[in-house]
Amino acid sequence: MIKLFDSYKKKLVEITPTDNYFKMYSCGPTVYQYQHIGNLRAAWLPDTVAKVAKLNGINVSWVLNITDVGHLVGDGDEGEDKIEKGAKTEGKKVEEIINFYTEDYLKQASSINLDIPKDKNLPKATDYIIGQMKLALELVSQGRAYILNDGIYFEASANLDLEVPFDLNKSGDSTFTGREIHNSDRQPGDFALWKFVPENTLQKWRFNHFDETANDVLRVLQKLNDPDLFNLPNRWGVPGWHSECVVMNKEIHGDGINSLDKHTSVIDVHFGGEDHIDIHHRNEILQSEALGFHLSKYWVHNKFVLVDGTKMSKSLGNVYTIVGEKKNTGFESIQEKGFDPLSYRMMLMEHHYTVQLDFTWDKLEQSQARLYNMRKEIAKILSLAKTESIEIDKKFVKPNQPVLIDILNNNLDCPKFLEMFNDLVKTTIENGVITKDKLMDILFWENNFLKMDLIPQIPSEIYKLGDQRDRAKKAKDFETSDSIRDLINQKGYQIDDYSWGFGFWKK
Ligand SMILES: [Zn+2]
Repeated sequence: MIKLFDSYKKKLVEITPTDNYFKMYSCGPTVYQYQHIGNLRAAWLPDTVAKVAKLNGINVSWVLNITDVGHLVGDGDEGEDKIEKGAKTEGKKVEEIINFYTEDYLKQASSINLDIPKDKNLPKATDYIIGQMKLALELVSQGRAYILNDGIYFEASANLDLEVPFDLNKSGDSTFTGREIHNSDRQPGDFALWKFVPENTLQKWRFNHFDETANDVLRVLQKLNDPDLFNLPNRWGVPGWHSECVVMNKEIHGDGINSLDKHTSVIDVHFGGEDHIDIHHRNEILQSEALGFHLSKYWVHNKFVLVDGTKMSKSLGNVYTIVGEKKNTGFESIQEKGFDPLSYRMMLMEHHYTVQLDFTWDKLEQSQARLYNMRKEIAKILSLAKTESIEIDKKFVKPNQPVLIDILNNNLDCPKFLEMFNDLVKTTIENGVITKDKLMDILFWENNFLKMDLIPQIPSEIYKLGDQRDRAKKAKDFETSDSIRDLINQKGYQIDDYSWGFGFWKK
């Protein structure tokens, strides 16, 4: 079984899927700007766990959300909405901002071969507004949240009865949530479920707009004995950031936000960056427990990506993405610097998710060298296999060395996996002879897990150039053979010579 590190239990836990089905959720991007390499690490982790689960024969349902509303500046609840701010700075419509940055995020993810969820498993927060309204109103009606002139707040001190994996009293320290307290009625551990916004706000909703929520509002106002509490039904507002994941999980993986089924956890593992442990995920857990259900059995977080030992920031000019032209936007892509996007995938694999990854250009160069070395070695093996007419079974059903799966099952030890895979590659040809089982294993791992373009599709045109070069070399026409080599390189391929012939790989 797969073991991962649970941040609240502070130990390794065995992930046991329900009915051989693994339900996972990870907090996705807020689409008001480009996503940096650290954000991509937070998608790499669940993607990698999903791939390992599948290797174990377990079905996976992974949901990743797109936050397209209401994520206030800073991860607390104060300040301006990030998407509003993005729209105003760029002079664009909110939908344009959302679509543009969502597209870019998906491009970044696919450039390092992540299989990002699709369709209903890639939900937008704005598609679940009713659920977020219902959640806020239900908590008010239970006396676990309160309404102020500027929003609806979860009340930490009214929820001390809940069994949660952290110290609720710690929230008395205002630094705990990193948030300023403007309203004297609010306590530091409280957080916004709903924020009222001015009428000129670009994204906004009203409680009385939906039939489904109008009745809930009446019920709450009657219970509070105030038919016009801050004009609740007609006030414009946006959901608080911490509610959307609860609602989407319950709607997509559970039995809906209306159901208050208590007995099971909605999902198996909830993922996120380490910054979510103390605020965002704490608040997700509180809301779920207050509503009477467990959100997730386990909570797994990846550590941050630093750059040259410090946090990435636009003011330092060290915020990096993977692909695309990003210069003069406060971002820069590693592709613009001339790197293969997959060298960042290699870098992610080289660092355990429970340690911070300190990105430097030197380290990226080393990761790229390692990647190219692997491609070079595998090109050699494939060339010999072709010469020896070794038949390749394309199904890649299972590896001959299950020990590599055990390494991944043990808290996703990708660095160890890479070492073992390297040994596998190095020992596939011994004394000029290929071990076919090992060749099959290389193909299996590349296709099902590594996904580093280790086995390139070589166009027939390149093979033809290789043959021409070979003939020129045999005729000792080195000028021609060198110029054909240059042409092959220009087309993006490398050609290597061996005692039995030649082979290609991609740079
Ligand atoms: Zn979340």
